Amino acid sequence: MASKRYAKVYEEICVACGTCIKVCPKFAINVPNGCFAVVEKEICIGCGKCKKVCPAECIGLEDRG
Ligand code: SF4
Ligand code: SF4
Repeated sequence: MASKRYAKVYEEICVACGTCIKVCPKFAINVPNGCFAVVEKEICIGCGKCKKVCPAECIGLEDRG
């Protein structure tokens, strides 16, 4: 398992600005459909950088469980 936590996008409030893509050290987050960001959960290390910069505050860190 890569990490205890991963970034979860609240899709309905994501504005697809792409800011999160630029800060992710693992290239784990993208906006593939132009509608909302999608995290590749298995690549994400849960660092929270995307969460910190998201202007819409639509990223949360979740436990993998
Ligand atoms: S920074 Fe936030 S609002 Fe912008 S694309 Fe990423 S998740 Fe969506
Ligand atoms: S938590 Fe870190 S590794 Fe995961 S998507 Fe966000 S910036 Fe990338």
